[in-house]
Formats: sequence, C-alpha cells, structure tokens
Amino acid sequence: DAVDTAPAIVVGSGYGGAVAALRLARAGIRTLVLEMGRLWNTPGPDGKVFCSTRTPDQRSMWFRTRTEAPLGTFLWLDVVNRDIDRYPGVLDCVRFDHMAVYVGRGVGGGSLVNGSMAVTPPRAYFTEQFPTVDAGEMYGTYFPRARAALGVNTVDPAWFESTDWYRFTRVSRKHAERAGLRTTFVPSVYDFGHMQREAAGTAPRSALAGEVIYGNNHGKRSLDKTYLAAALGTGHVTLHTLEKVRAVGRAPDGTWILTADRIDDTGRVVETRQYGCTYLFLGGGSLGTTELLLRARETGALPDLPASVGAGWGPNGNVMLGRANHLWDTVGADQSTMPVMGIDDWDNAANPVFAEIAPLPTGLEHWVSLYLAITRNRERASFSYDTASGALRLGWTAAHSAVSAAMAKKLFDRINAANATIYRYDLFGSGSRVFADDFTYHPLGGCVLGKATDDYGRVKGYDRLYVTDGSLVPGSLGVNPFVTITALAERTMARVLTEDTAP
Ligand code: FAD
Repeated sequence: DAVDTAPAIVVGSGYGGAVAALRLARAGIRTLVLEMGRLWNTPGPDGKVFCSTRTPDQRSMWFRTRTEAPLGTFLWLDVVNRDIDRYPGVLDCVRFDHMAVYVGRGVGGGSLVNGSMAVTPPRAYFTEQFPTVDAGEMYGTYFPRARAALGVNTVDPAWFESTDWYRFTRVSRKHAERAGLRTTFVPSVYDFGHMQREAAGTAPRSALAGEVIYGNNHGKRSLDKTYLAAALGTGHVTLHTLEKVRAVGRAPDGTWILTADRIDDTGRVVETRQYGCTYLFLGGGSLGTTELLLRARETGALPDLPASVGAGWGPNGNVMLGRANHLWDTVGADQSTMPVMGIDDWDNAANPVFAEIAPLPTGLEHWVSLYLAITRNRERASFSYDTASGALRLGWTAAHSAVSAAMAKKLFDRINAANATIYRYDLFGSGSRVFADDFTYHPLGGCVLGKATDDYGRVKGYDRLYVTDGSLVPGSLGVNPFVTITALAERTMARVLTEDTAP
C-alpha cells in the first residue's frame, strides 16, 4: 500500500498537538497533523459556525441523535437536551462504566468547547504532582510562554463589579465570604475587550449569548486562532481533518507507521490510509493517546511499551453542584458563559477544594448558584483494553467518585449553613441527585510523565515517540488543566528539538 510520509506526524490538534505542531514547524520540520474532528470555519445555514447551547443542532455533539449536556434536567423538566442528526459535532461524551468524559472534537480539540479558564496551578501542588520537573524553569519560562501564546487575559475588575452579566458571580462570592472563604479571579482566553463590546451592543454576542460547550462564534482565543494559526502560517504544516488514527506500529527500519480511517459527515469510513514518519507526537488527549498506546501494546504492535501505559488516571476530582438561593438573591437572567472567579480553599489541608463559580445561562432568573468543584481526590484508575471488542475500559468506580462528592459537600455545607440555603435537587436528572460526580471535563493521565514516559514525555521502550497532552498529568492538578498541558508541551518541545531532532 502507498504510504504518505512526513518527517514528523502529530496526532490530534488540542493543546498538546498544537504546541508540538508549532514548535516543529518553527524548527523547519515538515509536519503532518491528523485530527479526527472537523475544521470549524464554515458557517451553517444560520450564518454561524457553531450552534448555541439553547438551540443545539447537529453541530453540537459527536455522532449523537440526542444531545447529552451534563445538566440533564432543569426544574425536573427535560428542557435542556434536544434530538439532533448524527454529525461530527464539536463536543463528545465518552461513556465508561462509572464516568462520562467530555472532550472536544475538531481542529483545536478541547479549546473549542471549554470554559476558557486559564489557570496556573499553585506552585506547591504542581511540585507535588511533578516532583521530577524543575518548577523554577516551569514558572520562570514555560508557564509564561504558554500564557502569552494562548492569549490569556483577565476581566477588568471595575466592569466585573458593575455589569449585570456577572451578578451571578458576585452573589456566589458574597455567600462564600459569609462562610469565611476566599475567592480569586480566574484568568481566561476569552477576549474581555470583546465581551465588553458585546455588553455595549457594539460586537456580536457569543459569551453573552449562551455560547460555550458547543463552541463560541466570537471572542474566544481557541487554538485555531493562536497556536494552530501560527503553525499553519509557517508553511511547514499540513492538516488532515476527519481522519482518526486507529493503529500505530513500527517498520523494521524504525519508521513509525500509522493507520487512519477517513470518515464522512455520516461517520462512514470512506478510506483507510497509511502514514509514515520519523518522529511521532501523540496529542490525542488523555483518552485518545492512552487508547492508541494501550492498543499497540496489547495487540503486540509495540510490545515494549511499559506496563505503566494506561495507569494513573483521574478526573481532577470534578464535581458539579447547584445551590438554591433566597428569592431576594437574584443571580440575573443575563449571565456570561465565561467563568471568572473561583472559591479557593485549596490550602485547607483537611479538605482541599477549588470551586469555580459557573454560569447557568438559561435567559431566565432561576436563583441557582452553580459550581464546578475541583477536589483533591487521590483515587486513581487504570484503563484496560478489551481485545475482543477493541474498546477501552476504565476502572473508575462510583466509590472513587464518592470521595470527590464528599469533599465538595463539606465545603458547600459550610456555605449553605452560613447563608441558610439548600442544594438544588432538580439539575442532574433522576431522583434527587445533588452532586454530579459521574462526569468530568478534565480527564488526566494514562501515560503519566516520568512513569510511562521519561521526564520529558519520551515514551519508554521506544525512541522518537512522544506524548505531549493531558495524559502526562497524574490524575489531579487542583485547577483547570489547559495552561499546564500547554506549558509541559512547550517544555517537551524545547528539549526534543535540541536533543533529539538535531541533524
Ligand atoms: P484535547 O484538547 O482533548 O485534544 C485532543 C485532540 O485529539 C482532539 O481534537 C481529538 O479529536 C483528537 N484525537 C483524539 N484521538 C485521535 C485519534 N486517534 N486520531 C486523530 N485525532 C484524535 N480546561 C481548562 O483549563 N479551563 C477550562 O475552562 C476548561 N473547561 C472545559 C469545559 C469543557 C466542556 C470541557 C470538555 C473541557 C474543559 N477543560 C477546561 C479541559 C480542557 O479543554 C482539556 O484539559 C484540554 O483540552 C486537554 O488538552 P489535550 O491536548 O490533552 O487534548
């Protein structure tokens, strides 16, 4: 069979993939990027590239007939999810036995669907999670490099205090302060200049029009506008979309051989292609990269991969919950979709939690304060490969999740007690569930740095094979992960381009 070759191939175009592509291209190395999702640059019949969370259509989710938003119900009515046509939409939900993992699909990966929160972890916790990484170098060089390239900015505090769009955040801050808790502003890659123009009516609305998990039509500095635009601008990068890498192997001469299925808009495989490269960078994310390596090991394609491939996975302790406010504490019908503040109780050694104040932009007053809590859950799970079906399994259990929920409960019981408020029981579907601890936006681990790879993301057992994405992070980070994933990828690329690819 014909094999298309390139010096370097990058699998996936999320944070890890985008950094690899840009740095390879800047070094003059011809690079092919293979992405299973679409390129999101073409307006649909409504003139928009992405659909809204309020009226989701086929663009919302990856090959579904119904949307699967984490907020399953509202006031016990199934008003949030909608029937849709099957299509390579931008948000995927990968369901394991006890954990649903949300990921972005498309050129830009998670940057297309995420909440833009661009948080650098507390140095002490970073050092604990990455004991072999030089923290001085990270905080001095790679975190600043990542933040600059991602276009991180912060909300103008004066505007924040005065605008209706963040009333929901100010109400939650007041309630946290009554419980003696500290809040902190959270930086973002959403352009706050644009957001202020949205509020003033001088720019088209996106964050102020309910857009987020199915993509933002304006204002967001997603990777297709930052790292990937710069990478393509070098002329050294070729991008193939709707191509899913399904197998990785190695030719006797050491060339990496990839098998990829090209799909059409119905999901049908229209062609299977083979690619070859000298340097292979895996940026498929915690799920994508771990699946490729685990399958390669278990099928015997790459038998020398270490036993630690597939281990060390965690959901960053994610728990979502809502509180019911008193009638006089209105959160506002107008809510920006971009969170800008967190309740920071991470230094509470007895119960470390960092809880983001999340919007619930229904366009109506609902008196709900919503939160995405990141808890310090020390449980970890492993992936296994089911040879018969070819599917990935995840050993995460409900008992593992209960640890996160208990930590969130401790913090929010305190907030409820200080404000004489209660939880909302109608947000997460069946029964009276208060804590949504069975899904995550932050899948982390599977090919942990220093375990499945060396200290720079070089996969053990082989040479010229690298991991640059969230699978390197050992299950917990304490904050939202994309700044850290980007900074670690910058660090890996700086090392690889000086030590491994020099002629
Ligand atoms: P990804 O960004 O997931 O990129 C992987 C890419 O590889 C995808 O485009 C995927 O389609 C592609 N791919 C995978 N497998 C293959 C294959 N076999 N062949 C071809 N292509 C493949 N983090 C924050 O820091 N702040 C936030 O505010 C925030 N909010 C979030 C909100 C939501 C709804 C979600 C889902 C996530 C959020 N996150 C947030 C998490 C953040 O987006 C992820 O941590 C981040 O995107 C992970 O980066 P990555 O490079 O590891 O992989």
